[in-house]
Amino acid sequence: MTSSYDVVIVGTGAGGGTLARHLAPSGKRILLLERGGWLPREPQNWSATDVFVDNRYISPDTWYDQQGKAFQPQIHYFVGGATKLYGAALYRLRREDFGELRHHDGVSPAWPVGYDDMEPYYTWAEQQYQVHGARGEDPTEPPASAPYPFPAVSHEPRIQQLADDLAAAGHHPFHAPCGVMLDEADPPDSACIRCSTCDGFPCLVRAKADAEVLGVRPALEHPNVTLLTGARAVRLATDDAGTAVTGVEVERDGERERYAADLYVVSCGAANSAKLLLASASDKHPNGLANGSDQVGRNYMFHNSQAVLALSKEPNPTVFQKTLGVNDFYFGTDGFEYPMGNIQMIGKSQADMFKGEKPLETKLAPDFLLRDVATHAVDFWLSTEDLPVPDNRVTLDRDGNVRLSYSASNATAAKRLYHQLKSMLGRLGMHPDHLIPRHAYLKTDIPVAGVAHQAGTCRFGTDPATSVLNADCRAHEVDNLYVVDTSCFPSIGAVNPALTAMANALRVGDHLLERLGASRNGAGS
Ligand SMILES: Cc1cc2nc3c(=O)[nH]c(=O)nc-3n(C[C@H](O)[C@H](O)[C@H](O)COP(=O)(O)OP(=O)(O)OC[C@H]3O[C@@H](n4cnc5c(N)ncnc54)[C@H](O)[C@@H]3O)c2cc1C
Ligand code: SF4
Repeated sequence: MTSSYDVVIVGTGAGGGTLARHLAPSGKRILLLERGGWLPREPQNWSATDVFVDNRYISPDTWYDQQGKAFQPQIHYFVGGATKLYGAALYRLRREDFGELRHHDGVSPAWPVGYDDMEPYYTWAEQQYQVHGARGEDPTEPPASAPYPFPAVSHEPRIQQLADDLAAAGHHPFHAPCGVMLDEADPPDSACIRCSTCDGFPCLVRAKADAEVLGVRPALEHPNVTLLTGARAVRLATDDAGTAVTGVEVERDGERERYAADLYVVSCGAANSAKLLLASASDKHPNGLANGSDQVGRNYMFHNSQAVLALSKEPNPTVFQKTLGVNDFYFGTDGFEYPMGNIQMIGKSQADMFKGEKPLETKLAPDFLLRDVATHAVDFWLSTEDLPVPDNRVTLDRDGNVRLSYSASNATAAKRLYHQLKSMLGRLGMHPDHLIPRHAYLKTDIPVAGVAHQAGTCRFGTDPATSVLNADCRAHEVDNLYVVDTSCFPSIGAVNPALTAMANALRVGDHLLERLGASRNGAGS
């Protein structure tokens, strides 16, 4: 078969969508394969009931846990991938996250690239995804070669009060880095209208810095880029030696199709990228493509996360709440020398989201009526790093379905972070004894189904015996195969993963251009 394309990219999320935009001006023939379609623009985009209770944009996939019990993963198959629904908190990992870090439950391993290798790409990703933020407020932030491209999103009064109270208590709250196209200096012309339905919702007015709006659409302005939606990659075929991919098999409109290229990039998200490699087993790769190390699918991570709400003594009328973060406990605190993680805000609770949330109903009565909760809620997201554990892994059952085995790590550190926040509430104008889980934000009370921050199933490294990919994210065993998404993460840190996936896609994109003998602007190199 003759190659019709220079590069095939499978998946159009933070990794694939960003890479597509980077490669597009080169003039190289690029094919994007996306199993989903365009996320429809419709009034339901901003309906808490449709999005949070009826799970309108969750895929109908069925996965299985380690006991073989079926569950519906909270996953989104659309052009733009998970970023269509994300909260657009666009953090850099800390410099220390790229090195080896000792945690309560073990070691978070080093990356094969250091922070200094990533820094220019973080800066570029912040520009491409229009990150709003303020440098110099967060004591843990790594050095940056440029200011944020846009000013921080301002706090609304209740969150400003929270920032002031935190500062008065000796902490260092900062303006959270955020990818919304908000122009507070010129509201009539601002694409973003600062609404209450951002974090976890699609943006009806396309003002969220997601991988469809700022990755795929700009890429498609170039005639050399083709997108096929509804195109699910099911297998990668190789040559007889097993050292090069020769085609990707796709199911589209009920038919099997095959596409060929010189280079293949898998960007399906951590679980589905592992699935595609495992489903591509052959005589030369009996345990799955590029899986001689037996590492494909292993070390799955997704953060030890807790969505909680505290009850403000005064009403909290905040509309856009995700403007504040605290990293004072990221590397530990007095009395607990291990990393604990990041505290940030999440989208403001709305009464409609609480339907069916049993812990709320039982824990709050009689002090608060359920309908008062949304009025007083101040909503936090606590992220503790979960460690790469080999047995936390994606495998396939006989029918090719994803089986996800996962046991939590760093539970002690997560509990310490929770109690740290709880112990501070009284000084922050909140009721001291109320810190309540918000299952609705996770859209599930089954922890393993909350796959939003999935990472780590094809880790990159220098040793082919212990990693799947090399430092360029190329498979050690297959010359023209790359994995460019959160799969490559050897560890996940405790901040949100998307900006790192985007920055890494830009880094790998430079390598691919060099390999293709092309340049960023299309001139030959
Ligand atoms: C509700 C929610 C809130 C979040 N909030 C934040 C946040 O505030 N900050 C942050 O940093 N991160 C956040 N995240 C996580 C962030 O969105 C992900 O880390 C990021 O999108 C991962 O990028 P990726 O390229 O690995 O995968 P994705 O972005 O998921 O992209 C994978 C793509 O591959 C496609 N695909 C899968 N299998 C196939 C196949 N076989 N064939 C063809 N296409 C396929 C999928 O449809 C999808 O488009 C959030 C996620 C969710 C769900
Ligand atoms: S806050 Fe802005 S970016 Fe977010 S959904 Fe609303 S309009 Fe869109």
